[in-house]
Amino acid sequence: MSIKIALVGNPNSGKTTLFNALTGMNQYVGNWPGVTVEKKEGRLKKNEDVVLVDLPGIYSLSPYTLEEVVARNFLVEERPDVILNIVDGTNLERNLYLTTQLIELGIPVVIAINMMDIVEKNGDKIDIQELSKRIGCKIVVISALKGTGVNEAADIAVEVANSKEPAPVYNYSGVVEHAIAHIEEAAVHHMPEEQQRWYAVKIFERDKNVLEELNLAKEKLEHIEKDILLVENKLDDDAEAIIINERYLYIENILKGCFNKKSLGRLTMSDKIDRIVTNRYLALPIFIVIMFLVYFISIGSIGDWTVGFMNDTLFGEWIIPATETFFTNIGCQGWLVSLISEGIVSGFGAVLGFVPQLMILFLLLSILEDCGYMSRVAFILDRMFRKFGLSGKSFIPMLVATGCGVPGIMASRTIEQDRDRKITIMTTGFIPCGAKTPIIGLVAGALFGGSALVATSAYLLGVTAVVVSGIMLKKTKLFAGDPAPFVMELPQYHAPIYTNILRTTWERGWGFIKRAGSVIVAAGIIIWMLNHLSIDNGIKFITEETGGKSILEILGNAVSVIFRPLGFGDNFEPAVATILGLVAKEEVVGVFGTLSGGNAEMGFNLALNGSRLAGMSFMVFNLLCAPCFAAMGAIRREMNNWKWSAGAIAYMCVFAYAVSLMIYQFGSWFSGNGNLIGTIFASVVAIFMLYMLFRKDKNKIGER
Ligand code: GDP
Ligand code: MG
Repeated sequence: MSIKIALVGNPNSGKTTLFNALTGMNQYVGNWPGVTVEKKEGRLKKNEDVVLVDLPGIYSLSPYTLEEVVARNFLVEERPDVILNIVDGTNLERNLYLTTQLIELGIPVVIAINMMDIVEKNGDKIDIQELSKRIGCKIVVISALKGTGVNEAADIAVEVANSKEPAPVYNYSGVVEHAIAHIEEAAVHHMPEEQQRWYAVKIFERDKNVLEELNLAKEKLEHIEKDILLVENKLDDDAEAIIINERYLYIENILKGCFNKKSLGRLTMSDKIDRIVTNRYLALPIFIVIMFLVYFISIGSIGDWTVGFMNDTLFGEWIIPATETFFTNIGCQGWLVSLISEGIVSGFGAVLGFVPQLMILFLLLSILEDCGYMSRVAFILDRMFRKFGLSGKSFIPMLVATGCGVPGIMASRTIEQDRDRKITIMTTGFIPCGAKTPIIGLVAGALFGGSALVATSAYLLGVTAVVVSGIMLKKTKLFAGDPAPFVMELPQYHAPIYTNILRTTWERGWGFIKRAGSVIVAAGIIIWMLNHLSIDNGIKFITEETGGKSILEILGNAVSVIFRPLGFGDNFEPAVATILGLVAKEEVVGVFGTLSGGNAEMGFNLALNGSRLAGMSFMVFNLLCAPCFAAMGAIRREMNNWKWSAGAIAYMCVFAYAVSLMIYQFGSWFSGNGNLIGTIFASVVAIFMLYMLFRKDKNKIGER
């Protein structure tokens, strides 16, 4: 029989770090709640019979968010053999609140107090033996990050699981105990002994899920309700609050004399840094400067050089000519050589050229994330978002989406309110993901001499698009309502752990290469064929000598009409690239690679007639319009409703079109070659957007 250990704890307490250390797996460790939105299973490295389950972080067993539901359902329905409760030692009181609830489940509990490295550094003292005696559970102290104590924690968990002894429950005050005893007797007597108490407490709290599950008879409910009301009257509070209060009292009591917080009231290094970094006025400028530096290093300086080398030298001068010579020499026909060198190698190479740049970007982002800075950004933007009635939690999906939109959209599950969750799903795709970065690199390289300002503005544009959309949508009836409060522990800063960083960087980068090798190559072949076949008089193969319009050109031209008001509809290539970008965003660059025989930047420059304005408009449209198929699938899954999903995707496309139109038309007008009708149209769009942004919020009742 295998043993199942469930890792349970507050968000950010280090569950995933411990899970990775014990299983040798590479689950994503993040600095904010919502990273582990689904449970993950792995087997202990040392003992294959023991299964470890990493659950999403939760603050309580009263589920408000989807992730809390995941964790609670798992615990209540599957009843693991033991709960390994990860407790953040720097935040004992708050973390033990969950512990009090876990103990009631009647499942054996082992407590692992984590972050001991910081606790010790802070000089805080915890009397583990005494605490363990008072709570009645075994306690291990660990540092998941440093790897100390982790194996002991697993060993003790296994030992306790084998003993099958549930933790002893503690007592509430007399009146409450009395009511709970009544409820146990009346409603849950048929259940296994160890499960009764948890259900009874939940019934006392009038927990909807439990009441639904038990489906008690009406007389019983009325009887119980009387008991509850009695207590409520006596203690002059509502039942749920009574329980919360008593839990905190209990924690306060057991910590008395067991816990000496030396760091209380003293500013730690982290606090000192935060005074500057999260300062009301400095926070946003600092964030922008940091993002500029990130893009300057990754895309501007080193990145630009590596792309140049990869595209012009490695592929342009060596690999592509060598491929052509090789396949010509072994006697392949001209068309086949062209298919291989243009269709396959050039498209692949154009995308691959961005890998070093992307790896540097991912590396820098994961350093910022791992050391703790990104959690501060969530905190800073929460403050900003809140002013507009948006949930600060929307930022977490956005952060995850800088790697890939799919997990980003999934991370929206942390948001309790359905409406806010929907807004987040609709707008998370605006953030430039890894696959969109090459588009930015392409535009910056081809038209702006590799300036890092292009990338920084693209990123800020994404954030602005989210905020602007949020404000506009919030004012409509569909999305009205105040955001839920956003609680998040800010982790202490720490030097980035190189294994974490290298792991995330590598995984993201490798995912990119894999897609480039499959989707891009397949699409490259199709594009090449469509570009070399004509249907003038029957299907014919065309080459530079024969000339003629290819199928691709005809199709592209038909679509490109739509993009003429945006400035990139004069040639067929941008239209083809945009459409194929829906398959995978890397394909945007891949198309220019294939169509230009390897030099994507040159092909892009020609296709846009060298216009910076058109290039900007093209980039903005491709960053903001519908995401790739994978992300659309994620939207479909998370919305769980095709109308909402179609609406979300349509919204993104319309929004992208509107912004690009304004950029191109106003830009042309400013530079003196505007078009009257275009400017009028763009003005109408601008006025409409401003109206949507600044109109009075009818749904707000009174001042808040
Ligand atoms: P989860 O949300 O509970 O899964 O937490 P994670 O495993 O994702 O960790 C949250 C953050 O805490 C990460 O930045 C970890 O590097 C950090 N962390 C985890 N364990 C420790 C520890 O023992 N000491 C320190 N200093 N940091 C830790
Ligand atoms: Mg986690």
